[in-house]
Amino acid sequence: MFGREWFDRIVGADAAGWAALLAAPFVGSFLGVLVRRLPDGRPVALGRSRCEWCGARLHARDLVPLLSWLVTRGRCRFCGHSLGWFYPGIELAALALALVAFWVDREARVWLDCLLGWWLLALGWIDLRRWLLPDVLTLPLVIVGLAEAAAFEPVQLTDRASGAALGYLALRTVAVIYRRMRGREGLGRGDAKLLAASGAWVGATALPQVILVGAASALAAAGCMRLAGVRLGVQSALPFGPFLGLATWLLWLFGPFAV
Ligand SMILES: [Zn+2]
Repeated sequence: MFGREWFDRIVGADAAGWAALLAAPFVGSFLGVLVRRLPDGRPVALGRSRCEWCGARLHARDLVPLLSWLVTRGRCRFCGHSLGWFYPGIELAALALALVAFWVDREARVWLDCLLGWWLLALGWIDLRRWLLPDVLTLPLVIVGLAEAAAFEPVQLTDRASGAALGYLALRTVAVIYRRMRGREGLGRGDAKLLAASGAWVGATALPQVILVGAASALAAAGCMRLAGVRLGVQSALPFGPFLGLATWLLWLFGPFAV
């Protein structure tokens, strides 16, 4: 699938397209800071400035995405502490999203694909680590989705606005029913707000497929975990955010599939 045509498209991309590709690892680096600090209410604006273990002040050359990590073989230059896979992982993921966006779309839209993909990447990763989908990320995503429709695709605005409303109401309803039946929370309020954001980007028409793809990928992940020997009982749960995010991005990229 990632064949010759895709390669040619990247090589022949205009400045905006190349800017998206070159920016991707730096955006990933920023998302890493966001994922680690936002849930604790720590400031994210300044980025990484010190080693988290020894407190040494980091210089520009310690902060080049991917490269710094490769050069020091994943260790702090000052204290030698292993830096782990988190930062290179999220930087690579951000780059991978940009490459997929290139495979699917042309220049101007690649930026929109990346914007949504990176945003959902941060949300999904926070949910995976902390079981949390912060309002400061989900609510603006609703607004940006509707603004995008108003600016670039006004004919879709009604569908996208109803998508936002329906997304929220649908998951809130499911959550209330689940709580009544099982006596515990199955879905967080964050999931409902994320589905509202999803509706604001893909529209009400595509929303059922977001839920379907999200649920199917969550089941597939649970299946893989079982195969890998992780025991899952009735009481176990997976955060739904990463799967909703994945489903939203896929439907944004490829549109709803014909049923
Ligand atoms: Zn250090």
